[in-house]
Amino acid sequence: MQDLLEALRAIVGVDGVLVEANDLATYERGWRYGVGKAAAAVKPRTPREVADVLAACTARGVRVQPMGANTGLVGASNPDASGTMVVLSLERLARTIEVEPLDGVALVDAGVTLSALNEALAAHGLVFPIDLGADPQLGGMIATNTGGSRLVRYGDVRAHLLGLEVALADGTLVSRLTRLRKDNTGLDLKQLFVGTSGLFGVITRAVVRVVPRPRQRVATLACAASGEAVLQLLATLQAEVGELLSAYEAVSREALAAVLRHGVYERNPFQGEPPAYAVLIELSTALLPAVLDLDAALHAALGAHLEGPHADGIEDVLVGRGEDFWHLRHQVSESLREEGAVVGLDLSVPRSRMAAFTEDVRARLAARFPGVRVADFGHWGDGGTHLNLVHDKALGGDDPAAFKRALQDFVYEVCVREYGGSYSAEHGVGPHNLAAYTRYTPETARAVCRVLRATLDPSQSLGSFDLG
Ligand SMILES: Cc1cc2nc3c(=O)[nH]c(=O)nc-3n(C[C@H](O)[C@H](O)[C@H](O)COP(=O)(O)OP(=O)(O)OC[C@H]3O[C@@H](n4cnc5c(N)ncnc54)[C@H](O)[C@@H]3O)c2cc1C
Repeated sequence: MQDLLEALRAIVGVDGVLVEANDLATYERGWRYGVGKAAAAVKPRTPREVADVLAACTARGVRVQPMGANTGLVGASNPDASGTMVVLSLERLARTIEVEPLDGVALVDAGVTLSALNEALAAHGLVFPIDLGADPQLGGMIATNTGGSRLVRYGDVRAHLLGLEVALADGTLVSRLTRLRKDNTGLDLKQLFVGTSGLFGVITRAVVRVVPRPRQRVATLACAASGEAVLQLLATLQAEVGELLSAYEAVSREALAAVLRHGVYERNPFQGEPPAYAVLIELSTALLPAVLDLDAALHAALGAHLEGPHADGIEDVLVGRGEDFWHLRHQVSESLREEGAVVGLDLSVPRSRMAAFTEDVRARLAARFPGVRVADFGHWGDGGTHLNLVHDKALGGDDPAAFKRALQDFVYEVCVREYGGSYSAEHGVGPHNLAAYTRYTPETARAVCRVLRATLDPSQSLGSFDLG
């Protein structure tokens, strides 16, 4: 290790290699899951330095844990407990943001944060439209294929990736930083690194497609009497305003009640008890109001629904500031943690089945695990739900981890096998959900991963787990 530390200092400078316990602590613990122990953390500043760090570690048989902003929610960005891994933090690889407005693209260092990228793009009237409640790095977003609240309109990170540069474990730098929107020339190599948790290589730079920054945004909160009513309203909005719909977030009564009990807000927007679901509807457009009156478009669409056959399902439509509605929505996770133990599940099902799935799980959990409440919220516009299972901590008995696993396994089975859903809609794969990955991933896919790993990282240097 001493020899490796010398080599790493020669590559990135003395200030780029951390070994003291105090300095390492922030690299050893994930946002929600994942605790490990690192031998060192190293902070390269250029793609070449990343590649040289990897070559130095691999040559000495030392495993490397790539880390972005460490906001991942499946424990995939932290070292294991062995104390022998080196954390490769991309935080200093954050100098380049080259915007090319006519191409509608930006060339970006992997360690650039989403907020820094959007700040640079704002000067050109552009935005990278992946929107979430954290501030990840671009490399981490690619490695986890981040979704976010506006996926219904813009799609995920994969949909915006044009070019990629990756450092392989042996120190090879593979650079394909194309700005082409059309390139039908065989295998799309960059896709191997999207959503595969950094296990095939470390992303150093990327070219991403960016879009015009919306000039208008309007939001409202509709009070729906049931999950089915949430879907009926979605159908109307799709027909009436189509691609103007940029967010469609449903928050259940249980989740709303938690925010009202523990959150920070100016006033309770609901008269009395919260509705079965509050739906945050957002429309946005880059067009100027003189060209398109967005407020009028929203009113017309809601009016069409309230005059249609499913009007009864919508009990109220609240007028207010969009940012207040988003503020309410963003407080759900933290508020639920005040209510007891929370098992947070990140699921998706086909949109049309979302209401039936949620109600089915709610009923079956009540029968099988009395005392466990479902407090769901999420991106119903794209079939995503954060299904939170809240219970009294005592319910977990002597083995809370086993109780949590039983709950997870029960819901995963219903979601994946009965409703054709996914056990990880947005957060990717990591130690936290590896058992589900192993259970539900077809053997062919895992065999392909083994071949890829053997080709790209034969000494298994990268990461603390495997997809094969
Ligand atoms: C409050 C909050 C809200 C969130 N909301 C959403 C949401 O709405 N949608 C969503 O999809 N996610 C969400 N997330 C999850 C998380 O923000 C994303 O997964 C994010 O993209 C991770 O990026 P990161 O830079 O933090 O990566 P990290 O957490 O540091 O790493 C995640 C994975 O990527 C790998 N990695 C990181 N950088 C690189 C690189 N340069 N090259 C190769 N591999 C790399 C790591 O090894 C690890 O496997 C949320 C998280 C929080 C805390």
